[in-house]
Amino acid sequence: MQDTPCPRVRLHQLRLYVDNHLHDRYLAPPLVLVAAALLTTWVPVWQVVLWAVVELAVIAVYIGVYLRFLRAQPQPSHEELWTRRIAWAHGAHMVMWSSIVVWAYVPGDLNPLMFVMLMQAGLISLTVAMSNPHRRLLLSDLVAPTVALVVPPLRDGTLFSLGLTAVGIFYVALMLQVGLRMHASTTETLVLRQRNDELIRQLGQQVRRDGLTGLSNREHFIATGRTELERAARYRHPLALLMMDLDHFKSINDTHGHLAGDEVLKSVSRVCREMVRTNDCLARLGGEEFAVLMPQTSLAQASAAAERLREAVAGLRCDLREGVVTPTMSIGVAIAHDGQEGLPSLMRRGDLAMYQAKAKGRNCVVLAPDPATRQEA
Ligand code: GH3
Ligand code: MG
Ligand code: MG
Repeated sequence: MQDTPCPRVRLHQLRLYVDNHLHDRYLAPPLVLVAAALLTTWVPVWQVVLWAVVELAVIAVYIGVYLRFLRAQPQPSHEELWTRRIAWAHGAHMVMWSSIVVWAYVPGDLNPLMFVMLMQAGLISLTVAMSNPHRRLLLSDLVAPTVALVVPPLRDGTLFSLGLTAVGIFYVALMLQVGLRMHASTTETLVLRQRNDELIRQLGQQVRRDGLTGLSNREHFIATGRTELERAARYRHPLALLMMDLDHFKSINDTHGHLAGDEVLKSVSRVCREMVRTNDCLARLGGEEFAVLMPQTSLAQASAAAERLREAVAGLRCDLREGVVTPTMSIGVAIAHDGQEGLPSLMRRGDLAMYQAKAKGRNCVVLAPDPATRQEA
């Protein structure tokens, strides 16, 4: 178990702490009123009223800080700042509760002593139950009630009151141990949850990526193509498709070996990735075949983009251990209007155009006939 969890986990701990303490909204004010009513039995009313009014104001302040924290949804880098704010706001509340001893303790009188010790013991239990998600706040919250629990009996100096102090010390030690154990188990759960989220994220990426080139794989490309065609239909946008195939790739493999062929595939992918927009979906469909989906792109724009990609790949010089390879690729461009066409048909037209580019001598771009202009003709 790590001792100092990362800021993301600490922020999560702070959120749990705030969630626990937000219940004070409903419980703390009536508790203040009941305690104040009891105190009037032997404490002057003006002192009790003063204590209750200040404590109610302190409660309003820290509830306000909690609500601001939840609204702000801070980043992990702001965890320290919010911990400090909350430590001050909630610390004031702990000091106010513990200050009851100042008003209520009457030396030599057992009833007030029992009352204040009961109050502080209850406060310590509540603090352990509610503050344990955040170690620093748990420790700082416990300071005031601990002092208020163990110091007053000392002043009486009798053997009985010294015994009460000893009981208080053992009680705090026990509760501290419980609190820290609860904290360790919550932290472990949070760290595991974070690792789990990260693994799920990585797995999600892996099922969408091609292992060799890091581009989208065929499955992700097909899924994206369907979504983009639906979007094109909804917003009446054209969707362009580029089908790209490396020329004479078999002879690259045959001459330089399969591993060299893999390096060429990676270099071509890198060049193409740098040239497409972030909205475009660039995929390796298999072998040495690639495709690009270009949303909101006309045939003229797609043909210019295809020409830029073709030129970039033709200008590539792969300096490999096995020798120098200068790959080229043939590209077929097809356009879908308003999502009228399904993905298989669009890919078939792109493929046909790509085969025509091969037939024309390779290393060139061929446009598939635009269905919109064919309909008009
Ligand atoms: P064309 O110009 O007509 O496209 O010729 P080509 O040689 O590129 O086409 P062909 O389909 O005959 O050959 C494709 C080659 O790509 C055959 C196969 O061994 C190779 N290939 C397929 N997948 C991989 C791969 O992952 N790595 C490597 N290095 N080669 C692959
Ligand atoms: Mg090929
Ligand atoms: Mg091929």
